[in-house]
Amino acid sequence: MSMQRATTIAGLLAERELDALLVTDLANVRWLTGFTGSNGLAVVGAGEDGLRRFLTDFRYLSQSAEQIDAAWEREIAQDLPERLAQGLEGPLRLGFDDAHMSVKEHARLEELLGDGIELVAAAGLVEGRRAIKEPVELDAIRAAAKLADDGLADVLTRGLVGRTEREVALDLEFTLRRMGAEAVSFEPIVAAGPHGALPHAVPRDVAIPAGTLVVIDWGAQLDGYSSDCTRTYATGELDPRDREVYEIVLRAQEQALAAIRPGPTGRDIDAIARDAIEAAGHGEHFGHGLGHGVGLEIHEGPRLSRQGADALEAGNVVTVEPGIYVPGAVGVRIEDLVVVTEEGHEVLTSLPKTLTTVG
Ligand code: ZN
Ligand code: ZN
Repeated sequence: MSMQRATTIAGLLAERELDALLVTDLANVRWLTGFTGSNGLAVVGAGEDGLRRFLTDFRYLSQSAEQIDAAWEREIAQDLPERLAQGLEGPLRLGFDDAHMSVKEHARLEELLGDGIELVAAAGLVEGRRAIKEPVELDAIRAAAKLADDGLADVLTRGLVGRTEREVALDLEFTLRRMGAEAVSFEPIVAAGPHGALPHAVPRDVAIPAGTLVVIDWGAQLDGYSSDCTRTYATGELDPRDREVYEIVLRAQEQALAAIRPGPTGRDIDAIARDAIEAAGHGEHFGHGLGHGVGLEIHEGPRLSRQGADALEAGNVVTVEPGIYVPGAVGVRIEDLVVVTEEGHEVLTSLPKTLTTVG
């Protein structure tokens, strides 16, 4: 991977009055350097010619040499924080990934670094850049979303009724892997009837009956990037209540989706869906945020929720996923994955949202 991202981060340090940034979160390390191993950290110094150090352990000697640009000073060590400290001299204001460092790790690092080096919380510095995807990242997410759609379409040809939630979930995982996904974005959710009222339902060894709703939430991972989508299917003639809940969620989802463009905050978009669901009398049954950013991690910035203070920007990739969860009765969620573009948005998920029956 080129050094462009390191240069970008280096250029952001001055405004936070940092001399260098220590990057320890592995998703941040991957985004910055291209390294995909399970142990590594990077240091970026201010300025175009500033420090560019990457540290990993012996297991990743060859892999890191292949993945990381030669402009990084690459070091192999057993104890990464110890080696890091050896190469740094104060006075230095060193930013760190405060969202991803334990109190224990922080205390040890502080001790190793000694007096002249000040550790400064640099919340969201890398994450903020990661939230605006580059074309190469969008290509990976687009491909993951397409693969996920193809995978579910294939699974649905084998039907839902009479198979257990767990069988369908495993079939989906296996199908996605067989079609080329390097992993699933998360363990798929397959939840029928009242079980669908749990937003994070775990698939059960229970056969899916006819005449109910089934929530399926799944995603595929390609080149490290995830997709995320939810569809809710009918398995036959529905109780009118279930059909009504479906239509309310669909309208809320479509209204919020239509408003996605640069400018509004995550809170603004969340409110559109929330107001629609509240107006239909189900406000108390929509207890989670409307959506989240997706990229190297399945949940990243920006947030579409009551806490979402950031304005959407072109290059953001977010989900729009309202739901209604009536405990013990019914659950519906409909989720699309969307890129914010200069003109508005591009929806990456292609499966139909009109209520579809799968027997
Ligand atoms: Zn999802
Ligand atoms: Zn999601």
